[in-house]
Amino acid sequence: MKKFQAPRGTLDVLPPDARRRLRLVEITGDVLGRAGYEPMETPVFEDTELFARGVGESTDIVQKEMFTFEDKGGRSLTLRPEATAGICRAYIEHGMHKRPQPVKVWTAGPFFRHEAPQAGRFRQFTQIDAEAIGSDDPTLDAELILLLAEIFERAGTGPSRLRLSSLGTPDTRADYLDELRSYLRAREGELSGEVRERLDRNPLRAFDADHPGTRAVMADAPRLIDRLSRDDAEHFGEVRALLDAAGMPYGLDPTLVRGLDYYTRTVFEFESERLGAQAALGGGGRYDGLVEELGGPPTPGVGWAAGVERMLLAAGDDALDQSRPVFISYAAPGAARTGFLLARQLREAGFRVESEQAGRSLKGQLKQADRVGAFVTVILGDSIEVKDMQTGEQREAENVDHVLEMVRKVPGA
Ligand code: AMP
Repeated sequence: MKKFQAPRGTLDVLPPDARRRLRLVEITGDVLGRAGYEPMETPVFEDTELFARGVGESTDIVQKEMFTFEDKGGRSLTLRPEATAGICRAYIEHGMHKRPQPVKVWTAGPFFRHEAPQAGRFRQFTQIDAEAIGSDDPTLDAELILLLAEIFERAGTGPSRLRLSSLGTPDTRADYLDELRSYLRAREGELSGEVRERLDRNPLRAFDADHPGTRAVMADAPRLIDRLSRDDAEHFGEVRALLDAAGMPYGLDPTLVRGLDYYTRTVFEFESERLGAQAALGGGGRYDGLVEELGGPPTPGVGWAAGVERMLLAAGDDALDQSRPVFISYAAPGAARTGFLLARQLREAGFRVESEQAGRSLKGQLKQADRVGAFVTVILGDSIEVKDMQTGEQREAENVDHVLEMVRKVPGA
């Protein structure tokens, strides 16, 4: 008989990981909700052309990593590799530019890239994503960066470095790209084959290269950050001033090239100090030309995406833990009904309650109470005992109502 396995690069999310993941999404909704970001959802597959246009023909994502298939009507569809293109498509389709601007939304869900799987890199992965569309106000750039940092903080992902840069507007970028191409052509012999091949389409990617010859050439290459127009430089200056004022540390990184073509002006990325090769926790930037590129009115936008699997990896097993439960155990047969009702009563009072439901011996039950991390165990027998699991101290309750009162007084509740 064939043994089935989850497809390469995918993962089953088992308890308790699935709970921690839900908790992370809850935190995201809470942090973003307080800044006016509303939840939104778009389909997990879209017209292939949307990503080719939105993410960029020359990007790795479009060139190599898309899960593309034909539906029965012969239409080419692609499992979404990222969220922004779909959200911008929906913004245009539903005339959201007529709403008060900016439209602030967030989403969470599965994304798909056909990459070589390794630790922290999957073919189906989960992102949280936030976007503010319809304004180029620099407070949005800074706000989004700070909100993502707050989510990391509350999720306990540990120390990370923020890299920040500005790519300027399309005109500045086009001039700069010409300058960079000429520079690279003049030293073409020293570059890797891959960089040479992409020299016309996307010379910026040369900054990403690991090839030693290319790296040596790039060390002296002209930097976009030194070529920004006055408007772009001012915008970037304001974003930086806001981050400085908020006490958010960052490193300016003029070589920061994100793997998506649509970025303009601000770009940023958070890198975890706890993760190895795949250390990028999340990143994003401004995409002031994207909505127009997709057929909408000229509309600025800014956003980010962060990888849920990586955030959980960085946070470790003890992060995002839930409150400790009350455990109800039975020292006498026939106490099950009393326990069943007591469990309900304690849950109504706001406690998390687990009880014995597998016929264990009393010793086995107390072991189970430890395993589920109970802070208190109620033992129902001829008497009702309330045991503080921290100190081991055990006291008798007068009746079921008294249990609630006693449980409330145990530290850890
Ligand atoms: P990107 O849009 O490529 O910057 O992706 C945003 C974030 O999603 C990254 O910083 C990662 O945390 C996460 N991510 C991207 N690709 C993958 C992948 N193949 N597997 C797991 N996480 C990913």
